[in-house]
Amino acid sequence: MMVVFSGSQPFLFSQVKDTITEKEVSRIIHYLASDSLKGRGNGRPELLKAGEFIGDEFRKNNLQPLPGFPEYFIPFRPFGGSKKAVGDSLYWNGNYTPPGQFIYIHPVPGNYLEKNLRDFRVIKLDSAFSENILEQFSGDSSSLLIWTNRKQANGKSFFPEMIEMPPGGIKHNLLLVYAEKTPDSLLLRGNTSLYSMLEYNIAGILPGKSKPDEVIIFSAHYDHEGVYGSRPDSIMNGANDDASGTTALLALANYFSKRNDNERTIMFCAFAGEELGLLGSQDFVTTLTNLKKIIAGINIEMIGIPQFGHNKVFITGERYSNLPDILRRSLRKNGIYVRDDPDEKKQLFSRSDNYSFVVNGVPFHTIMASDDDDPCYHQPCDEVRRIDIPNMTHIIKAIAASAGTLINGKQTPWRIAPSLLPKNN
Ligand SMILES: [Zn+2]
Repeated sequence: MMVVFSGSQPFLFSQVKDTITEKEVSRIIHYLASDSLKGRGNGRPELLKAGEFIGDEFRKNNLQPLPGFPEYFIPFRPFGGSKKAVGDSLYWNGNYTPPGQFIYIHPVPGNYLEKNLRDFRVIKLDSAFSENILEQFSGDSSSLLIWTNRKQANGKSFFPEMIEMPPGGIKHNLLLVYAEKTPDSLLLRGNTSLYSMLEYNIAGILPGKSKPDEVIIFSAHYDHEGVYGSRPDSIMNGANDDASGTTALLALANYFSKRNDNERTIMFCAFAGEELGLLGSQDFVTTLTNLKKIIAGINIEMIGIPQFGHNKVFITGERYSNLPDILRRSLRKNGIYVRDDPDEKKQLFSRSDNYSFVVNGVPFHTIMASDDDDPCYHQPCDEVRRIDIPNMTHIIKAIAASAGTLINGKQTPWRIAPSLLPKNN
């Protein structure tokens, strides 16, 4: 039950056991999937809170920021033009309107501007604002003023702290206002560029001892679906998707930092914006100066539910590189059986953050123990009480041990040929 780790101590499963424990796995996943993080929704403050937790764990394990970055947190703008309008001022019928009663969204950052009522197409809502409303106007070329005198509807307040853009985004100015009376005049002074909403990918490294320019990545996404509707349990906790993978990521960071003998550099990445279409990882690859240095990547998703039985996982995209084969053999030695990718039609290979690297030729695959056939996939019932902690812990230990030949530089998988990838992605 071991993988030989040349030049230093052997890669013993028993050592893995001592560092990666059920207790530790349980601690991390209970926090990430807790109701207090409200489903780690994109654009919500709780996502930043989850990110702070991840940063603290990285710090505890003495990870270093990526070269050229001052800290683990690497910002990106998930929705392009979405802004928080705290710095804008609005006069409505001559009266000052407090910042909490309006949001102004401007697609071009950095413009100070003044606008009057005649600059807008005015739409009155008879309900509280909801993001679906924007869908109707995504093709509209005029500046929109959407206002309502309904502060609450269905238990939700007038507008959320953050607006999610409809597909394709909003191309024009959008002003959302809560007000008592129909506007006869308005004066808007916009300065939204100062208030861009950011999200963060979180990345840290353990520099390699002898091959620091060769990098192995472990990744998972820490965002999920937030809170939907007003049912008694409306929190989409995302325990399996993907608090489980994020927990694995942190447990692996702890394990490899304690070993402190990696020949290649190990990079640990927690991505945001995955549920919006891999937005975090797509931005992240553009911040890396040389993707040729990324030798291999292992993304971890939905390992908390043993959908195919205990000690069983699958690896997505198994025919696009030989990394799945390398992992299959070593996982087997560590008591984890790798079954076939359940259904190519589901395109699981292209549905997680690994794919942002794959299209650039990096052999980067996702290890999963369940998929979207799980009845609680993207449902409020994806809760930590359903997670099989012992099985999940076993999978994490096996991944730690099985990555040994990649991390010590003994094995290098083939690059992926992007021209051979399915065309429909
Ligand atoms: Zn996921």
